[in-house]
Amino acid sequence: MKITKIEIYKLNVPLKEPFIISLGVIKTANSIVLKIHTDQGVYGTGEGNPYMFIVGETQDADFEYAKMLSKLILGKNPLEIETRLAEIDRILKFNPTVKSAFDMALYDILGKYTGLPLYKLWGGTNNREIITDMTVSIDTPEKMVKDALRFKQAGFPAIKVKLGDNLKNDVARIVAIREAIGYDIPLRIDANQGWDTITAINTLKALAKYDIEHCEAPIPRWNVSDLPYVRAQSPIAIMADESLFDHHDAFRLANTKSCDYFNIKLSKSGGLNTALKIVSIAEAAGIKSQVGCMSETRFGLTALMHLVIARKNIVHFDLDSALMLADDPVTGGIVYKEKGSVTLSDDLPGIGADFDQKYLDKMEKIIVS
Ligand SMILES: [Mg+2]
Repeated sequence: MKITKIEIYKLNVPLKEPFIISLGVIKTANSIVLKIHTDQGVYGTGEGNPYMFIVGETQDADFEYAKMLSKLILGKNPLEIETRLAEIDRILKFNPTVKSAFDMALYDILGKYTGLPLYKLWGGTNNREIITDMTVSIDTPEKMVKDALRFKQAGFPAIKVKLGDNLKNDVARIVAIREAIGYDIPLRIDANQGWDTITAINTLKALAKYDIEHCEAPIPRWNVSDLPYVRAQSPIAIMADESLFDHHDAFRLANTKSCDYFNIKLSKSGGLNTALKIVSIAEAAGIKSQVGCMSETRFGLTALMHLVIARKNIVHFDLDSALMLADDPVTGGIVYKEKGSVTLSDDLPGIGADFDQKYLDKMEKIIVS
């Protein structure tokens, strides 16, 4: 099998309302979408959604990189995934989000070629109950209470709250939310690296009595050497997110006992291939995993869902980005049901989802052939 042509799209999907975290504001989901075609009629689709304040990539930069990487793999065998990804890694350092789009499309081809959904290729059984939490943007306590109440009433089993401001304001936010929603629903928090070490420890201690399930990224990625200390002092479980990109990060975090959980995102890991390696390290180290997202559509989340179905080490699911989009440009794939339930019922080969071509046709596009 040979790669004959690659279509690259700048996919822009509006959000229902701005998504605000301590690092910045997202108003439109700007993804890179690929369609990798082959000489055997099979094609694979991939999506990467770059958050520049986390991965350093933008849609424009990824569009250029995607052209370059397309030329690199054109004419080669897409089934040799390890070799193709190694070639990509050799010429382009970092930039995991654009790489994840290629990784996803290559796995989609492998699944379609073998006639199996990806989770079946990885030996999974599609009988897991997957329920996504829903995220409250960082804002005034009043606005955050309103959102948390709305999500609780919609039946989400857990609410994730964006923090990372300072002790006084962040504690006030959680106090207000707990007073409004009560204690019968788990709260998870995410500081997105917004605290320094002392602020993190003091804030986590102050929040202990509000029944918090875990805290993502309490301190900056660059200060990863302080994370074991923060974890040792914290009464709340620590989840590595921005300090965990690839399997090398996972190995270091496990080795230094820096966290209780990993947060795996394909946009950070460079795709499914490395995500599988991270899960293996988690299993070996006795660390549990969460999967998360940037602002992917249901397509990127469906690719991630195959990993979730196949690996029981993944116990928390933050699969809410598609719920924040004003449009759904995806056909097939995961379905959101009541109370945060997410299912993948169609047993289609590969990722089992695709983009509505009419939606893609409205977007800027280039073909490498
Ligand atoms: Mg996070």
